[in-house]
Order: sequence, then C-alpha cells, then structure tokens
Amino acid sequence: MDASDALQGMDVLAGLGWNDRHATLFASEAPGLVPGRVLSEERGQYLVASVSGVGPASASGRLRHDTELDPGAAWPTVGDWVALEPGTGTEHRLIQRVLTRRTAVVRRSPGDRKLRSQVLAANVDVVFVVTSVNQEFNVRRLERYVTVAWESGATPIILLSKSDLADDLDGFRIAAEAAAPAVEIIAVSAVTHLGIEDVRAHLGAGRTVVFTGSSGVGKSSIVNALAGEPLLDTGGIRLDDARGRHTTTRRQLVRLVDGLLIDTPGLRELGVMDGDGLATAFDDVDRLVTECRFSDCQHRSEPGCAVRAALGSGALDRGRFDAYQKLQREANRAALATDALGRRAERRKWAIITREVEQHARMKYGTDR
Ligand code: GDP
Ligand code: ZN
Repeated sequence: MDASDALQGMDVLAGLGWNDRHATLFASEAPGLVPGRVLSEERGQYLVASVSGVGPASASGRLRHDTELDPGAAWPTVGDWVALEPGTGTEHRLIQRVLTRRTAVVRRSPGDRKLRSQVLAANVDVVFVVTSVNQEFNVRRLERYVTVAWESGATPIILLSKSDLADDLDGFRIAAEAAAPAVEIIAVSAVTHLGIEDVRAHLGAGRTVVFTGSSGVGKSSIVNALAGEPLLDTGGIRLDDARGRHTTTRRQLVRLVDGLLIDTPGLRELGVMDGDGLATAFDDVDRLVTECRFSDCQHRSEPGCAVRAALGSGALDRGRFDAYQKLQREANRAALATDALGRRAERRKWAIITREVEQHARMKYGTDR
C-alpha cells in the first residue's frame, strides 16, 4: 500500500463513519489489527467493509471463547466496528474483536425472565421515531419509542408521517411535543415530500441513522423518498411477512448517497429499556420528582409531594405519569440484567476518548473542531 492508497483507504473508512475517536479507540483496543464495519449479519455470517473492500467474515475462535467466558462481552452486530485479521483482499476474514460501541439500540424480550438482550444496531447517530398522524397515533407508544431511542445514546427525532392525510397536523404536533419534550419533530409525507429535506439534513457522509415505529407507519416509504429510488419494500410486502417470509431475517446496513441506514426488522418495533433513557425522555416528570420534599417519595400521601400537586393542578397529565411509572418498573427489572452495566461502561469509555481527542485537537490546531 503506498501513500495514496492509504489516503483512499481513509476515505473509505470515513464514508463508513470512522473518525479520530475510532482511531484512538482502535489503537488501544485492537493494535495490529485491521478495522472494518459490519454491513450485514445472517446466522453468524457477516459482511464486513474495510479498506480492502467488502468481504465475508465470521467470529474467531478467540472471540467465541471470550463471549462464552463473559456473557456481557460484545458479539458482533450490524453497525459494529470490528477488528479483523490483517489480510490483503476480500477473502473470508476472522473477527477478532468488537470495538466498544458509541451507541447501541437494544431490544429485550419482556417475557424472558433472564431478560436477555439483543443489540439490534450499533454506532447509530440518529434514531428516527416514526408515527403516522391518523387514528394510529398513540401518545403512550410514542413515549415508549422515544425512551428506547434516548436509551441507545443516539439522538431521537420524531417524524409525523403521512401528514398529507391529517386535517389537524398542529394538534398532532402539540401532542407529540408534550409526549417528548426537547425532541425535534418533523412533519413528513412520502407522497408530497413535505419535510423530506429536513430529514435529509440529519443524514450526512459517515452518519448512521435508523427508522423505528410500528408496521405500516411509512418508514420504508420515507427511506425510499430520501433515496430517490425504491430501496426498501413498502406496503404490500407485509402481507407476505405475516406468513413468515424469510425477508424478516434480513439485517443490514444500507449506504444512501448521503449517509448510512441500518434496517433490521426487529429494530423497527422496540420494546423495553434499562433506565438511562427514562430520565431524559421524561425530563419534565423527573424534575418534579426531585422537587418532592422526601427523596424516597412514593407520590401517594406524603406531604410536600410535587407530583401530586402537579397532577392536581393539571400541570402534569395523569396518563403521562402512569406511563412514566410503568416504564420505570420495567426499567428497574431490566436494570438487574448485567448488560445494563456493560452499556454504562461503554458510554464512559467513549466520553473519555472524546475528551482526549478534543484536547489533542485543541493542542494541535488551537481551536475546537
Ligand atoms: P412501514 O411498514 O413503516 O415501512 O410502512 P410503508 O412505508 O410500507 O407504508 C405503509 C403504507 O402506507 C403503504 O401502503 C404506503 O403507500 C402508505 N404510505 C406511506 N407513506 C405515506 C404518506 O406519506 N402518505 C400517504 N398517504 N400514504 C403513505
Ligand atoms: Zn412525590
């Protein structure tokens, strides 16, 4: 590899989302190995993009061994940055390590007593929460999706879809604002293309996004409007899915002209969370709770309870508070799962790396970058 090849290689990686922080992390976690990003996964077989191109890969014996010893250890998933054995071409490679994730969209099966979780998408920048503005619109469901989105560490953005069908778009917007304070809301239509450019503004070279929301709200249609071509199947295909078509096992990272999109079936409809996203998603309720006189206030009959006062005056909606408590119970149960701790450790590591790289850049260039 000569210098110009090396530069081109950096372009390839940057297009996949690689930056100084990844480089710093990689140097400490996987020295001597080659970075790559997982594009797709199907039954343990991966497609990984690296400087030498896109090629097949699978977990090394060592990685298998590590994850057997430590169930919290990361197993590769779509969007992961991984460390490959050095090689020259696109031959089958072994994945030796999974780089610490910056963000992770996680699903837990609520019925599972051990609350085993599955990382559906790694290293995502934006989680679009799509909800259509018709009778399907549901504030409680929206709160749940936004909470899971915050949980991932990525930035949630609400898309009010099918806005061409709404008589009272402002009414839906106001309801969404109350359900998700501090979250950007964009009204979109795949038919009129309203809002599509505002959505595109959140993409960008090397940025990774995901679209979540119930089946039929128009996620695929929005992606296709962004791509300007029928990238994903829409509408009719779901009838087939209901009969168990194997397209539902597809898990992939798709390259758009101006960014990257992770599309995996399970990711579209999310369930429970482990707690860190709750305080952010319900910042308004969380703040009230800190105003109660007693720090362990149960908001039942204690004197000086700010929550009951707010419920009484109507400042806090009863339905919203009930939803908060329900999600909190879920989160408490899930927090017992070991991987919640693992996620926290990952976030800490990324915070440290970010600080180091910024300090380094300031010393080198004398400005914030
Ligand atoms: P997904 O399951 O969330 O990916 O939803 P799809 O993108 O497959 O859309 C479901 C159905 O809603 C399809 O029949 C679409 O044609 C329709 N649809 C999607 N977006 C819009 C929109 O902006 N306006 C209208 N009127 N219909 C839409
Ligand atoms: Zn209280």
